[in-house]
Amino acid sequence: MGAKYQQFHQRSISDPEGFWGEQSGLIHWNKPFSRVLDYSRPPFAKWFVGGETNLCYNAVDRHLKDRPDQNALIFISTETDTEKAYSFRELHAEVNRCAAMMQGLGVCKGDRVLIYMPMIAEACFAILACARIGAIHSVVFGGFASHSLANRIDDAKPKLIISADAGSRVGKVVSYKPLLDEAISLSKFPPKHVVLVNRGLDKTMERTAGRDLDWEELRTKHMNAQVPCVWLESNEPSYILYTSGTTGLPKGVQRDVGGHAVALAASMKHIYCGNAGETYFSTSDIGWVVGHSYIIYGPLIAGMATIMYEGTPVRPDGGILWKIVEKYKVSVMFSAPTAIRVLKKQDPAFLKKYDLSTLKFLFLAGEPLDQPTAQWISEGLGRPIIDNYWQTETGWPILANPMGVEDIPRKFGSPGFPMYGYNVKLLHESTSEEVGTDEKGVVAIVPPLPPGCMSTVWGNDERFVKTYFETIPGKMVYSTFDWGIRDKDGYYFILGRTDDVINVAGHRLGTREIEEAISSNPAVAEVAVIGVADQLKGQVPVAFAVVKDPAQIASREGRMKLEGEVMKTVDLQLGAIGRPARVHFVTILPKTRSGKVLRRSIQAICEGRDPGDLTTIEDVSALQQVRDALAGKA
Ligand code: AMP
Repeated sequence: MGAKYQQFHQRSISDPEGFWGEQSGLIHWNKPFSRVLDYSRPPFAKWFVGGETNLCYNAVDRHLKDRPDQNALIFISTETDTEKAYSFRELHAEVNRCAAMMQGLGVCKGDRVLIYMPMIAEACFAILACARIGAIHSVVFGGFASHSLANRIDDAKPKLIISADAGSRVGKVVSYKPLLDEAISLSKFPPKHVVLVNRGLDKTMERTAGRDLDWEELRTKHMNAQVPCVWLESNEPSYILYTSGTTGLPKGVQRDVGGHAVALAASMKHIYCGNAGETYFSTSDIGWVVGHSYIIYGPLIAGMATIMYEGTPVRPDGGILWKIVEKYKVSVMFSAPTAIRVLKKQDPAFLKKYDLSTLKFLFLAGEPLDQPTAQWISEGLGRPIIDNYWQTETGWPILANPMGVEDIPRKFGSPGFPMYGYNVKLLHESTSEEVGTDEKGVVAIVPPLPPGCMSTVWGNDERFVKTYFETIPGKMVYSTFDWGIRDKDGYYFILGRTDDVINVAGHRLGTREIEEAISSNPAVAEVAVIGVADQLKGQVPVAFAVVKDPAQIASREGRMKLEGEVMKTVDLQLGAIGRPARVHFVTILPKTRSGKVLRRSIQAICEGRDPGDLTTIEDVSALQQVRDALAGKA
């Protein structure tokens, strides 16, 4: 690790109050804090206690003086052929209109607003408007279907939902409203109002009188609104973002205000090197944490223009991302390895077709970055490709290359080193001791977690402590649930999850959630879902199901029909994002004598590896059924 960075990191660990006290100057405080850190109730960390600030003020208002006419938000949709740029002044006006409409509907500080929207500018206005008035936003990824959405509504209990008639994917209209209506009807806590952006994509959109309101009508009503920022104590909640774990019920990751703003501002400086006046382009979606941190808040807090892109990397052709870089003079780009693997199949000439001279770095995160992909894009672009490793829970990188502090030589396949503020340890899963060089251990963080990391699980402090801080025997440390190793030069490598979470094209899914969706199909008695390695997406879910009536799958036609039906069940409940690549049918699942499904063995067989220790298996023939199913014999 570079000596300069080592010193920087060391200081953040040995003197967190001094270090973060300095970083706090990167944002505006309405009232100064009295203490940098209150860690009197471990593992709950309170940062910048007593300080008052506002995320929307830092992202928008603060820039009105120096850069009112500079682009702030650039919305590009290759799906609808739309492009519109908003200056900071225009963004401010739109956010004020939206904040006024929310207040007009009775939304106050601390109320939740659920945002279920495609990648359109209004989604950004809604997020920032919540921040402005102290409402807590809960953005739900537009690819989730009614059942997932209903779970999130019931947990967050929003007063208001903001949505749209439809999104568009690969030229196909994807209606949001029917899924939303279904979710609301399933929910125990339906919202009082739904505000709908009508893009004119779904002409059949139905509205519920008294509940559903039109965005444009409300916007016009509040055209000249000026809504003051509500100053919040640093530790008050700013947002909830649900993420998958080992149980079927996703956890609401809760983030604060002050620590969040400081952490993102610091990361823009020390990691991403994004400067005011430049353009940041993240290809993520606002439904994911990358979208929250590095489409909305991070770049705007830094005074950069940010791009919201509705479209794929290959439409209208494989040069679209680079065309955007050229047109908007993008300096920092953030994407996922999957997108690059998709581009690898395109004509490499696209990488040379556009003027990319403004581009300084390409950051990639969300899933392991394999060496061939890293090498391909690195050579093609001739720019540093920076792998960074983090999670919804942390909100910003745990491991990366701190480009703003020191450009340390990179090794393909490694996301680099622990970032400042993170006291990372690799611990043996049962002894909890630190493992040695090149030995596999659980990636753990010694608390307090730095600013910007989750403050708790929404409404459930106990679940926060139990889930994250009590899984490593005898030690109160935060578990990332990832395996990692560190080589002799101090470079870290991430080896995959320790739990039943899988990563499909950079999207995190709990196998339990998919299993629950499949089990709701009346034909299915039992099911196991595992993640199987995939060249393009990293992993794909594959299901092995036991049916109630074996006659249904006696023929090949019967099996194919049922497979299609099971996939449809998942589409309707979870969304196509959770749809298994295959559903195989068996009469029993491989289990231990105590009844635990041997997922790792099933996964190993699917990936052509040795199934491992089988001494506890109840019925060995179950594994043969898995093999037969894969060979198409069942
Ligand atoms: P999410 O919370 O959806 O962002 O997913 C976080 C998980 O994605 C991590 O716990 C890792 O398993 C995986 N992940 C994220 N970034 C990387 C990376 N750069 N390399 C390897 N795995 C990653």
